[in-house]
Amino acid sequence: LMNASDKMRPQPAYRGRFAPSPSGHLHFGSLITALASFLDAKKNNGTWLVRLEDIDPPREKKGASDHILKTLEAFGLHWDENILFQSQQFDYYLHLIEQLFNEQHCYYCQCTRGEIKAIGGIYQGHCRHLNIEKNNSAIRVINQYGIAQYHDLIQGNVSCDQTFAKEDFIIFRKDGLFAYQLAVVADDIFQNINHIIRGCDLLEPTARQLSFYQLLGDKPIQPVLSPLYGHIPLAITEQGYKLSKQNNAQAIDNNNPQPALFAALQFLGQQPPNDLKFSSVESIIKWAITHWQREFVPKKREIQTP
Ligand code: GLU
Ligand code: ZN
Repeated sequence: LMNASDKMRPQPAYRGRFAPSPSGHLHFGSLITALASFLDAKKNNGTWLVRLEDIDPPREKKGASDHILKTLEAFGLHWDENILFQSQQFDYYLHLIEQLFNEQHCYYCQCTRGEIKAIGGIYQGHCRHLNIEKNNSAIRVINQYGIAQYHDLIQGNVSCDQTFAKEDFIIFRKDGLFAYQLAVVADDIFQNINHIIRGCDLLEPTARQLSFYQLLGDKPIQPVLSPLYGHIPLAITEQGYKLSKQNNAQAIDNNNPQPALFAALQFLGQQPPNDLKFSSVESIIKWAITHWQREFVPKKREIQTP
């Protein structure tokens, strides 16, 4: 409950981000996410950061990072502060894992995908007390909070699948890569992010991330507060597929950004006047910041793009 002194305490300045993985060029779906997170930050006089989530080299496409940044610039989405590359954060991630081991919040696990599939697809804590050796193992976090519900800035109350939300999830993969759940939370903390606007494909993983924050924040001296999350609808093709690098429904043209920018605003439920289509990128962005209404974004998980 808020008391009078809480109300008077100044709100921390808004810090948001766009965190693409460089597994390909930006497509219409990721443009919408970039735009929504940018507009929400700017409307709230916030700082907007770009972080490249390059922790999975096998899935990386050469030149994708550069191309993503060029596209953001062509669309007038200028970031504040330096770009953070997750590939430069490994020491920090290792330090976090070490800390989690010291506090007995995680453990090694050697269960295979096949073994987990055989018990229904959700890991049941098999290795939690087995004291497995480091050798060739994944690392799982003891998910003691198992948060399954939260309030979303756009979707309202979200309830996730309980068994998924309570699973001891992986923070370090058997193949030697850091897991998304670890890196994303670690860096949102590192960058002091307090507002996250992103696509609905991450609605369920958010529950795990909230549990992870709880775990990491369990410190009386320096509590870590979780950010607020808002999830925008996913752009899907007429056939119901998520837009991806493979089925690029609406290719993005850096040399002619206005049509895609205009379409992205409409997708987000904003109501740009028709003549804005023929304005400069700067004018479209300026209009969009001034008129941004988070409440107009559809409360849907998916929307078809023509
Ligand atoms: N890197 C993730 C992706 O491209 C997004 C991470 C996030 O926004 O939390 O899907
Ligand atoms: Zn196991």
